This record gives sequence, C-alpha cells and structure tokens, in this order.
Amino acid sequence: MIVVIKKNQEKKQVDNLINWIKGLGLNVHLSEGENSTVLGLVGDTTKVDIDLIRTLDIVESVTRVQEPYKNANRKFHPSDSIIDVGGHKFGGRHFQIIAGPCSVESEKQVIEIAQAVKKAGATVLRGGAFKPRTSPYSFQGMGVDGLKLLKKAKAETGMPIVSEIMSEEHIDDFDGVDIMQVGARNMQNFDLLKRLGRLKTPILLKRGIAATIEEWLMSAEYIMSEGNPNVILCERGIRTYETYTRNTLDLSAIPILKERTHLPVIVDPSHASGISRLVKPMSLASVGAGADGLIIEVHNDPVHALCDGAQSLRPDQFDDAVQAVRRMLPVVDKELDA
Ligand code: PEP
Ligand code: MN
Repeated sequence: MIVVIKKNQEKKQVDNLINWIKGLGLNVHLSEGENSTVLGLVGDTTKVDIDLIRTLDIVESVTRVQEPYKNANRKFHPSDSIIDVGGHKFGGRHFQIIAGPCSVESEKQVIEIAQAVKKAGATVLRGGAFKPRTSPYSFQGMGVDGLKLLKKAKAETGMPIVSEIMSEEHIDDFDGVDIMQVGARNMQNFDLLKRLGRLKTPILLKRGIAATIEEWLMSAEYIMSEGNPNVILCERGIRTYETYTRNTLDLSAIPILKERTHLPVIVDPSHASGISRLVKPMSLASVGAGADGLIIEVHNDPVHALCDGAQSLRPDQFDDAVQAVRRMLPVVDKELDA
C-alpha cells in the first residue's frame, strides 16, 4: 500500500502517522523526494483501514499495490536507485560498460584484455571463474584461482571487477569482488539469493532463460527483502523458438522495467545474441531502449577462447562498438564515465 503525503506537511504529523502504521505490525519505507513524500507500507496490509487513512488531513492519496514486489517497486521509491561500484555509478543519467572475457583463462589473458577494454572505455572488468556450463564435460572455469587472477587484474588496472557466484559456499572467496553476478541459471536459486541479501555487495541479477519480468523482479525482491538494496538487473536474452540467435534479446523489457522498478537495468548483448557481429547493433539498440549500461564479452583470441568465443569481440571490435555507443548516448541524455 502506498500513502502519498500532501506537500509541506509538518514532520511531526508524518512521524505520528508512521508510528501508528508501525503499531499495526507493518514496516514503513519512507521516500522523501523534492516534490512528494511517499510511505510504502510493507507487510500484511489487509488489516489497514484504507478509508480511515484517506480521511487524514496530511494524506493526499492511498493506493493499494497490486504487484507482489515491494522493495523493487518504483511506486515505493520514485527516483532511480544509483548504485556505486568503486566510484562508478549505475542508474540515473550514468551509463557504464562492463567488459572482459567470458572466463578467466590465465594471468596474461585477463590482464591483457583488462588493459584493452579499459583503454576503449570500459569501467568495470568481468571474468568468470565458476562457469555454469550446460555440459559437465565442458571447461568449468578456473574456480578460486581464476578469482585470484581477476583480483590481480583489478590491482593492475584499478578497475572494479564482477564475477559469477554459483554457490554460497564460495562467498568468502569473493571478498574483493566488487559485484557478484547471479547467472541466468541461478536466478531462482532462492537460498543463494537470500544469502546474498545479507551482504551489501552489489548483485548483478541476470534474467533467467524462461523468466517473466515479474518472476525476475521477485528474485530481486528476495535479495532486497533480506537487506541488500544494491541490485542491478541484467537482460541477457530469453529462450524462444528462434534458432538463428542463441537467445532472443527482449528489448521491450528495458522500458517496462524502467516503469516498474527504480533499479538500474543493463543489457548483455553477447549472451543475448551469441554472435559477435550482432553485439554492436544490439548494444546500440539497448542504449536506444533506455539501458543503464552494457556487459560485453571481449577476448584477445576469440577463436581459442575456452568459453563463448563465437560471441566475444576482439579488442578492436569492442573499441569500435564503444565509440558508436558514445555517439549515441547524448540522444538518451546519458553519460559514460570518463
Ligand atoms: C556469463 O556471464 O558468462 C553467463 C554464463 O551468463 P548467463 O548466466 O547470462 O548465461
Ligand atoms: Mn559467457
């Protein structure tokens, strides 16, 4: 339930209302914007007498929230959430480009790629250490050793790093990782989501391959309701009947999410298309649709990559794509970090 307070009301009166609501056993999220104060009532609101609240002098309006997600709901939090990752901001007018290899393969590989993507304009380095592969016989990632190499690349370049966590048993190994990625296959691993909710580390939550937008937001809710508000959503394509691309990039999810949630939304055009030559056009389309950033796979030798070579850009191709994105950003009134 959302209670909008009339403009310029005495703080004491608003506090009285909040305390009264809390007395009913509900939690109250207070959002004070420039133009309005909004109270988000969380909990079992069935006990609340909506007509009684409506009659209060300080109340502008009361609306029942239909959506089952509350923490992620823009109605409770009208302004964009801005999530800071090592000084780089996700959300609002900011635009970030995350880039790096699908998998960390060696020290030389990850550092070379990190330096190249940084030079081209990437602000955060990606690199998988634990890989969720369809086949148990495929390369599973370097594990803890891969994370160590990624942290070395962070020390070398100063770039914050993002890597996928597949199991809560590895949480301690992720110390020093700036963003923990929950991959498509784990989007509904509710125990993992709840555990990550007890951290403050930003979580990059990818959309499940067959997840509706509402299911995806409910997964964000699992993290946020445990106390971690730092969730970045990532559209990475969904499975459809189309076979010419690896997945189908659901571009319309971006403006829909922007209406429904205050969380930043980025796009992964690499996994969405599976084809390196589609990454640039899909990146531009994502910018046009209102994304807050991109996560792009880059490899210095895609042909010999241990994972996802077909969708990985070479550094020169990445540089070309970033330049095109830069030219487009003013159209959507966004800025890439310097
Ligand atoms: C990845 O980022 O390398 C990855 C496995 O992504 P997804 O979970 O979107 O498939
Ligand atoms: Mn990959």
